Amino acid sequence: MRITFAILFVLSFHARVQSTERPNILFIFTDDHALNAISAYGGPLAKIAPTPHLDRIASEGMLFKHCLVTNSICGPSRAVVLTGKHSHLNGFKTNKNRFDGSQQTVSKLLQKAGYQTAIIGKWHLKSVPTGFDHHEVLKGQGQYYNPRLFTGGKPTQHTGYTTDIITDRSLKWLDERDPKKPFLLMSQHKAPHGKWEPALRHLNLFDKIDIPEPPTLFDDYSGRSRAAKNHKMGIAKDMGPSRLMFKYSSKFTPEQFKVFNAYFGPRNKAAKQAQLTGKARTRWNYQRYIKNYLRCVKAVDENVGRLLKYLDEKGLADNTVVIYSSDQGFYLGEHGWFDKRWMYEESLHMPLLVRWPGVTKPKSISKALVSNLDFAQTFLDIANAKQPADMQGRSLTSILKGQTPKNWRKTHYYHYYEAGGHGVPIHYGVTNGTHKLIRFPSEKLDAWEFFDLKKDPMELKSQYEDASYQDSIRELKNELQRLRKLYKIEN
Ligand code: CA
Repeated sequence: MRITFAILFVLSFHARVQSTERPNILFIFTDDHALNAISAYGGPLAKIAPTPHLDRIASEGMLFKHCLVTNSICGPSRAVVLTGKHSHLNGFKTNKNRFDGSQQTVSKLLQKAGYQTAIIGKWHLKSVPTGFDHHEVLKGQGQYYNPRLFTGGKPTQHTGYTTDIITDRSLKWLDERDPKKPFLLMSQHKAPHGKWEPALRHLNLFDKIDIPEPPTLFDDYSGRSRAAKNHKMGIAKDMGPSRLMFKYSSKFTPEQFKVFNAYFGPRNKAAKQAQLTGKARTRWNYQRYIKNYLRCVKAVDENVGRLLKYLDEKGLADNTVVIYSSDQGFYLGEHGWFDKRWMYEESLHMPLLVRWPGVTKPKSISKALVSNLDFAQTFLDIANAKQPADMQGRSLTSILKGQTPKNWRKTHYYHYYEAGGHGVPIHYGVTNGTHKLIRFPSEKLDAWEFFDLKKDPMELKSQYEDASYQDSIRELKNELQRLRKLYKIEN
């Protein structure tokens, strides 16, 4: 009897040690969430639009100041997260591609390592998810209200606000999972991707205030190559009726429509009657856009709070690594833009907040150049699983432990492939955090840009022709060649 008890004790102790060694991973991933719309990052909107639950992850863990995306657009960023490989190797270079689910992914490797894996919400890779014990995903972009979630290609219709529903479903999966195994849950929101339809409870938020305009709202693009000027992502001209909420995208229930339209209907009528033009119209568009965007963010923040509360209440918080990120950054009126794609700072930066209790010191800030290329290896390292040699990133665990390796990367390679989307041409480049070199290789453009990010953080003047920068430019050109070889870029 005593011996049995002793064995049981040892076994249970062993189980506890095992589970301490192999924490759960809760990966909350949103779409198009700009750093400037997370108050933990400071920024001009931090006081107006606080995100207390996201800030909690930062204050109990680490905030990464320079998490840089490899290819600033939805599907490609997600494919990099899953594979730990640049777009040209994982095969998902543009949103027109279809993800090859037969390839190696972090979810498959974690499954093999004994993790339960689930993805709930936005997938955006067209093929049926592989490597997950459970998936229920939106088709394409999905919609903000009454989403259909697909499992094995079969849809289930839900009624309500999509950001809430993705969390409801995530909580349900957590409740029903096998508590004896560690888990990877990828809870992935459509929000705050356009067309920005806020939750009914947030329609009145920011009603009484004007959101400050970014200093480059009326950028004339004069200091750069023709590329920026040729954009089709202008707040002034390119938003169209559905991004400005003159037209609704979701299929509402009659009750939802009544409330939603009671808010926008009269305001739209007044706006049409005002017949604003020129700068006044741009300013109106900006307010309409930014308020709806921030309202969508508000629902994300509340739902992050629900997940954190669940971990607290179920005693899971201590043994779960919580990671918050978004597939790329976004323009909130900077350079007169919405959308992403460019290698300029706002769309290059992804938010990254990580809470790892007992490992990561609360309130830490990392300035290391990290990337979505590192996520897969980080997950594997957290799980104590082997990192395949063909992955191209590097685990962030040493940084999370407070020890940034001396040989951590000093430069980041970027490559955007989706020619023409919102007028943005194919481009690639390199940044070392203080200087940035961009190449627009198309025959029509054939241009280079070079920015001194310290002197010109808003990237208004390319110094590519400036004689005093020629040494730095040559250095970055060499680095660009080195990285293209290292990552096996063919063209
Ligand atoms: Ca996106």
